[in-house]
Amino acid sequence: MFSDAEKKVLDIIDDNRENIVKYLQSMISYKTVSPSDGERAESDDFINHQELIQQTLNEAGCSIESWDVNPKDLKPFPGAYIDPDRDLSRMPVVVGTLKGNGNGKSLILNGHYDVVPEGLLENWIHDPFGGEVSENKIFGRGACDMKGGIAAMIQAVKFIRKADIKVAGDIIIQVVPEEEKTSMGTLSCCQRGYMADAAIVTEPTNMDILLAVRGNIGGLITIFGRAGHADVNQPHWQEGGAVNAITKAVKVIMAMEELNREWRDRPDMKHKYLDPSIITPTIINGGLWSVSVPEKVEIQFSSDFLPGYDKLQAEIEEKISSLANTDSWMRMHPPELETGLMYGAETDENEPIVKCAFDTISELHKKPEFIGWGTLSDAIHLINYSKIPTISIGPESKTAHEANEFITVDSLIKTTKILALTIMRWCGIG
Ligand SMILES: [Zn+2]
Repeated sequence: MFSDAEKKVLDIIDDNRENIVKYLQSMISYKTVSPSDGERAESDDFINHQELIQQTLNEAGCSIESWDVNPKDLKPFPGAYIDPDRDLSRMPVVVGTLKGNGNGKSLILNGHYDVVPEGLLENWIHDPFGGEVSENKIFGRGACDMKGGIAAMIQAVKFIRKADIKVAGDIIIQVVPEEEKTSMGTLSCCQRGYMADAAIVTEPTNMDILLAVRGNIGGLITIFGRAGHADVNQPHWQEGGAVNAITKAVKVIMAMEELNREWRDRPDMKHKYLDPSIITPTIINGGLWSVSVPEKVEIQFSSDFLPGYDKLQAEIEEKISSLANTDSWMRMHPPELETGLMYGAETDENEPIVKCAFDTISELHKKPEFIGWGTLSDAIHLINYSKIPTISIGPESKTAHEANEFITVDSLIKTTKILALTIMRWCGIG
């Protein structure tokens, strides 16, 4: 059952369907593509996107804080990846705070506005930054991951204010860059001291409730060989023969497969909402000349692991070093391993914010499921650093990171309603 205040807000959202769609279209028109390694944002798209956000939050009565993240200012923290050399200038964070009367519970709404590159243009049937609407879908890079969620959370707050409703608890809206790369945008918000009784990251969850995300180790293994003429039969390496780094790399890849087999059935890798840990070689580079024995191979890998499990890196290191011990060359010339680590995180399903969101979604749309994601999100810092019970709720997610990414208009409007009611019920009306 909806209260009069709730009905009023839901009606205003229905009356403003077109405006909400237009707002998302403007957000999509800014090419806020996460810069590649060693690059920085050259165009004004990030700045212009955030000016739009800031203006809307201002109109909704929020006080604003905005800054560029300097990775060198971030404090190292277990399970947080900080890249001190990444240049995040001209990619501002914007945080809007709508003060309540102090009698309600506070809520952080968080979303990332950086997007992954659009990929091959020929695979798109619409302009990736055009925000075109066709068959009730809004197309564009970031439509579902996750400008749709940001549009929904900002419009929800705006229409609560427009309905002349004052919420009792503080609402803090964080629109951050850099989730797709390092999550340093949200880490910076956390380290600036933003706190709340609960947080919602509006990642696209198909309006289910995301409770748990896996952590990630990104790594590079360098495997050494010794160069020689490929067309000459080589003596044993101890007699000065060449050693093929590609052949040695095959053993490393087989060792990764062994790890996957071990982890698949191990009891400590079981989780209610998440799959067991996994390690995947993702990029391989080796060899320089077609008739030379390759002297070096580099394998990049990505490995995901359960929240609360902090031994994965040690297991990978142990596997590589025991492999090296079985091979006389590798024992003397062990592969080198470099890694960057981020912990996963989870929120208990008995947290009050989970019940609040569950009831709201059930009344407005469907009985939501509790879910986990194999890949991490900015929720990790809100949970691990700030210790805030954090869930994610957002629109449908079928096409994240794909060509022809879209969000349906229905899902955008439904998410806006779900967030508006969740905010009013969580924060209370003052
Ligand atoms: Zn995302």
